[in-house]
Amino acid sequence: MTTLVRLCAERDIRVVSVWGNEIDRVGEAEALNALREHGITVSGYNRIVPFTPGYLEQARFELERAARFGADHVFLFTGGLAQGDRDLGMARRRVEDEMGHLLEIAKPLGMKLAIEPLHPMLTGDRTVVASVSHANDLCETLGPGIGIVIDVYHVWWDERLESEIHRAGSAGRLLGFHVNDWLLPTKHLLTDRGMMGDGIIDLAAIDRLMREAGFEGPVKVELFSRDWWERDPAEVLDVALSRCEQIFGGTQRAGTDTQS
Ligand code: ZN
Repeated sequence: MTTLVRLCAERDIRVVSVWGNEIDRVGEAEALNALREHGITVSGYNRIVPFTPGYLEQARFELERAARFGADHVFLFTGGLAQGDRDLGMARRRVEDEMGHLLEIAKPLGMKLAIEPLHPMLTGDRTVVASVSHANDLCETLGPGIGIVIDVYHVWWDERLESEIHRAGSAGRLLGFHVNDWLLPTKHLLTDRGMMGDGIIDLAAIDRLMREAGFEGPVKVELFSRDWWERDPAEVLDVALSRCEQIFGGTQRAGTDTQS
């Protein structure tokens, strides 16, 4: 994490999202120092663990740590269906209640919760929230303190994308924008994301939707990719920045993810 922070600072990237497990590898004090030393602020904090029995205590720890890092929002992933469970409707009703409990912890800490809808193929094991519409419905029910992060990888296929991004923007709940690309063929659902421009997503069009909906935050590069993980981090950042420049017009809007 400290290397990536330095590499980002050298390229004038001033916003990152952080992962708890990356912080653990260097220790909290060193991670905080590296960020401060390079004048880098934290946008998203990853993450609140899936909603399994007893998870609230761990969630409280993550939220408190996110606050110490000055994060803007904390990602929550609900988890998929419990083992042996086939009642998706019930699972979805349950996450609404759990998010309510999380909000009670997050609000006094001044932390916002971020729902990131994931691709429907991850509904079974990662999260039962698989569309921006569902995320919007949840936010509407739960009220202030919870918003949505749009990751192109998970939502590019959705025919309601334009109206749902607009809906989220009108309610002031767009918290973040993750970019990467969908490769053809995709060899692995979690670890074969493409570099922006190498796949089939109309990134400029989704960026336009975000801006029209009032989102003014950074474009966050998030590349879960065995291929890119194997390369020199400096090279990955340079390619990512140059693609951002081509597609989104300007590096000043770029941010990155410490696990990318
Ligand atoms: Zn993402």
